[in-house]
Amino acid sequence: MAVSKTDFVRGLQCEKMLWLDAHNPELKIIPPEVQARLDAGNDFGDNAMGIFGPFVETTTLKEDGRLDFAAMLEKTKALIESGEEVICEAAFSWYGNYCAADILRKVGDGYVLYEVKNTYAARQEFITDLGFQRLILRKCGIPLLASKLLLRGDTPPENYPADPYESTNEYLESNGFRYKITDVSKEAKRVEWTASQRVFELGKIKKKEACMPDISVGEQCEKPYRCWYYEHCHKE
Ligand code: SF4
Repeated sequence: MAVSKTDFVRGLQCEKMLWLDAHNPELKIIPPEVQARLDAGNDFGDNAMGIFGPFVETTTLKEDGRLDFAAMLEKTKALIESGEEVICEAAFSWYGNYCAADILRKVGDGYVLYEVKNTYAARQEFITDLGFQRLILRKCGIPLLASKLLLRGDTPPENYPADPYESTNEYLESNGFRYKITDVSKEAKRVEWTASQRVFELGKIKKKEACMPDISVGEQCEKPYRCWYYEHCHKE
């Protein structure tokens, strides 16, 4: 695989992070509270799949437990051709660059793309993720009508930063959960352009085993979130 949506978001934060993910992932240290949040995010994502009614999920595993990307691409293609209304983990590939959309929902002649996040408000890295997906889906010929975030719609903890999209959000209830839908189509479109400019360059960085990017520690080590290679790079 060339660049995935995770690679793209992490590579924009720091090219060395992308390279380490590909060649020395054993150096990362994921703090337990972050791991707990990631695990909770998986449960949230599973619950969100049914929010628009019946759906088909393409997730397919190989015998060794790893994702079978080729099978997921095939399944997605067949589901699109048969006019399936809601596809979860809809997989697409363009020149080896790959993404699996959390939810792809058919609306009329087009599709709405949803990225599911177990958090209370939109953040730039989520929009970056969606912008990358927009590029891959549109290059695969999917007519995209909108790009949206599907977030937690319950009351955030006290002192949680204000949601800049509050006045335009929609809310939905499903399975005892309250969800918030934030339309970030315009912002994701802007990122799509950046993605089209950077994706092949990031792919080359990821691929070249002998060429770790020579990047000094700096602001990017903590923004937008603390890097999991922080200890490794700061020890250096
Ligand atoms: S700690 Fe900083 S320099 Fe090292 S990979 Fe992470 S972001 Fe890049």
